[in-house]
Amino acid sequence: MNDNVSEKTTISASSTGLIARWQAIPLYARIVIALVLGLLAGLVLGSDAAVLAVPGKLVLRLLGALAPALILAAIVHTFMTTQLGGPLAARLPKLLLLNTLVAILVGLTVANVIQPGEGAGLTPPPSHDETTKAANPLALFLENVPKSLLGPLGDDGKVIGVIFIAVAFGMALRKERERPLGTVGHLVELFLESLIKILHWIIALVPFAVFGIVASIVGTEGFAPFKALGIFVASVLLALAIQAAYYLLRIRVGSWVRPTELLRGGRDALVMAFSTASSTATMPVTYAALKDRVGLREQSASMGALVGANFNNDGTALYEAMAALFIAQMIGMDLNFQQQLMVVLTSIIASVGAAGIPEAGLVTMTMVFTAVGLPVEYIPVLLTVDWFLDRCRTAINVMGDMNVSCLLDGKYKEEA
Ligand code: ASP
Repeated sequence: MNDNVSEKTTISASSTGLIARWQAIPLYARIVIALVLGLLAGLVLGSDAAVLAVPGKLVLRLLGALAPALILAAIVHTFMTTQLGGPLAARLPKLLLLNTLVAILVGLTVANVIQPGEGAGLTPPPSHDETTKAANPLALFLENVPKSLLGPLGDDGKVIGVIFIAVAFGMALRKERERPLGTVGHLVELFLESLIKILHWIIALVPFAVFGIVASIVGTEGFAPFKALGIFVASVLLALAIQAAYYLLRIRVGSWVRPTELLRGGRDALVMAFSTASSTATMPVTYAALKDRVGLREQSASMGALVGANFNNDGTALYEAMAALFIAQMIGMDLNFQQQLMVVLTSIIASVGAAGIPEAGLVTMTMVFTAVGLPVEYIPVLLTVDWFLDRCRTAINVMGDMNVSCLLDGKYKEEA
């Protein structure tokens, strides 16, 4: 009996040890490992690997459920906490909107010219009816994972969904139960922090989703979709580089700062953005770099790097628009001019609503896809490369904030 207990304890201790070791590996490395294993599994299992697509669908469903609440909390929090007013604040919206529009147009142009998804030959997903007809236990489980946070609390009557949400918030708030809440601001902060905590748990599932997606695609469709994905990554990098060149050119023409000085002074912030994939975490570094190293006035540095940063995610906007076009090309669906215009509008909203945290762009992307009638089932394909592209677009998000600060500082340097 005693032996039995100690055996069980050893097994559970070694499995916790394994989980801890797995979690100690940086996320990007976990995703790369999953990618390689998924590739092998796809080759070995062939079309049997199709069922492995389920974890990807699950992750997507969870991300989609979190999106509206996260956007709501992020925007409410931003408006409650930022200092609005003054002449600089009046110029800010125009600059932000122009930069975001340029970013989306650059993205759409590159995606239309290079057509990275062309020839991938993915089969469009079955219609919803077919999916539900072929209900199996996994599909039924998936049906009960809430599509939105408020849905199960409203009239869709899915009690299991309510339990999912209750458990998630219960766990997220466990450590916060003694935290005093003095003001409405504290309450909003707590809500936002809990959502971000839940988001991190979902992100921890991403490597498993990637494994399943890669295996099921390789098993059922072969390698053509991955060739297309490679071209997509190259196209996004090209578009982000064009956007960076546009920023530097505008700074050269519209401010006293020399582009090379900005790159030299701001490199800590850019490197930090790339390594953390979070423009919010980078905010203080961006601000300090602009004020102390580049030498901008305090107000311009704070207006661009602290206020603007909350709304300004040009890299994200560019990426969302390109991703929508890419997936449309992959499944052979033509987006007409009107639909592309819809992509522009929703990408602007999605980029404003994307909190400056890792993978936020992927969360809000479901919104862009739904608005133009693209099947969200293929967003998981992007999970395989998002860990890398997220870092790149975050660096551009931060560069966008620097650009706005420099332009607000004007053509003449403040005399010391
Ligand atoms: N990670 C990005 C940021 O922090 C947001 C995104 O996912 O696009 O700026």
